[in-house]
Amino acid sequence: MKTYDLIVIGAGPGGYEAAFEAADLGMRAALIEKDALGGTCLNRGCIPTKSLLHGAELFREINGAGLFGVDAERITADWPRMQARKAETVRQLREGIAATAKKKKVDCFRGTGVCLGNGRVSVRTEEGAEELSAGHILLATGSRPAVPPIPGADLPGVVTSDGLLEAESLPPRLVIIGGGVIGVEFASLFSALGTEVTVIEALPQLLPNLDREIGQSLKMLMKKRNIRVFTGARVREIRREAPGSLICAYESGQELLETSAETVLISTGRRPYTDGLFAEGILPETDRGRILVSESGETSLPGIYAIGDVTGGIMLAHAASAAGRNAVRRMAGRTDLVDTRFIPSCVYTDPEIACVGLTLEEAKAAGLSAESRKVPMGANGRTVIAGAERGYIRIVYEKESGKLLGAQLMCQRATDLISEFTQALCAGQTLREMARVIRPHPTFSEAVSELLAP
Ligand code: FAD
Repeated sequence: MKTYDLIVIGAGPGGYEAAFEAADLGMRAALIEKDALGGTCLNRGCIPTKSLLHGAELFREINGAGLFGVDAERITADWPRMQARKAETVRQLREGIAATAKKKKVDCFRGTGVCLGNGRVSVRTEEGAEELSAGHILLATGSRPAVPPIPGADLPGVVTSDGLLEAESLPPRLVIIGGGVIGVEFASLFSALGTEVTVIEALPQLLPNLDREIGQSLKMLMKKRNIRVFTGARVREIRREAPGSLICAYESGQELLETSAETVLISTGRRPYTDGLFAEGILPETDRGRILVSESGETSLPGIYAIGDVTGGIMLAHAASAAGRNAVRRMAGRTDLVDTRFIPSCVYTDPEIACVGLTLEEAKAAGLSAESRKVPMGANGRTVIAGAERGYIRIVYEKESGKLLGAQLMCQRATDLISEFTQALCAGQTLREMARVIRPHPTFSEAVSELLAP
């Protein structure tokens, strides 16, 4: 039996980063993956969606290039080639992970990892099983789409993000059930390519986990782009109308309304994935499917740790990676490498959206004496040059001390700009301290200096 210091089950961003961290600390690490290296993030999540979104944004930009004196004729979006580009991007990054694993001498196993207890794990494939053992085991098995019990959710043409990412052609009409991050990103993508998109969200706002103003601004922007958005509306049923066409019946206020489309995307959240992970009699404590862990990342089973989507909470790739690296360092008796108190959330719509820390509402609800300040991007030189949607940057801070508490951005490059605020939050900086930095001209980040000016 091969013996390791650490066995990681699941090679998503949580699992492979953890295995690499272990190798860097001199631990012998094994990484077990039943599907493809990179997990949801690389194969069915972050990377494929952003590759397609990049193509769609280019298409939108080129169509509007006349504003800059650049005339382009006969612009077409070739979906199969966009899909091919996506596949190539994923392949390239996957090879990068395999090469890093080899360089760091992490042993990769292809198969389903099953916890047997007493530090043993079985790697099962169709050909057979191999047993491994280790002092520590890390579960990083991620999540899968959660499909609510809507009648008709199993009809052909009703898909989750996994299915839509593999679509062979562009649907003429798409209904998206769920206006969270995944739903609005797909709405942006397909509407930019000419699909008629309808978004139906049960809660009163889009992106219900983010600041209210962001949800409202995004709804307005989407309507401007001819995306039909219904918030506070619940889908009751999906049924087949004619071959290839589906009807979605939804309740809005007192009314029961209907809309039809060739494709219906269900993007109502994700649930932790633990199928087949434990041998009989081995079961850590869970809460609604998510594996519960202690401060150090250990489950109720000694020596078995869990990180990332399988533990629920903030289901983001960078959160999983950070938790993975920290958990391994704790196993090795080291201090944390990453400060996980402030985890930025990003949405890759146009303009981009990014948030970190507290909103004003949250700060007040926490009993803090907080204020907020906002700068519209309309006067920012770079924004005007780019002819970009206006957007804004808002910061939330403690009234007395001026200490930064949070930031909400909806503007060009928001997903990059947010790191400046995350860094300031981690360092416990005040607005005055943040204002000491020179930000180059003309840039989007210059707006931050304007915002911080006394
Ligand atoms: P995963 O990435 O899910 O990896 C788990 C791996 O474990 C999988 O490869 C699975 O095959 C494997 N596995 C499961 N069980 C076993 C077993 N028993 N044996 C062996 N292997 C097993 N996050 C962001 O931060 N930014 C984004 O832009 C973003 N976009 C997204 C877009 C979409 C459409 C989706 C669906 C998600 C997106 N996410 C994004 C979320 C992100 O993908 C996840 O938070 C992240 O992948 C979680 O990482 P993980 O390591 O916990 O698990």
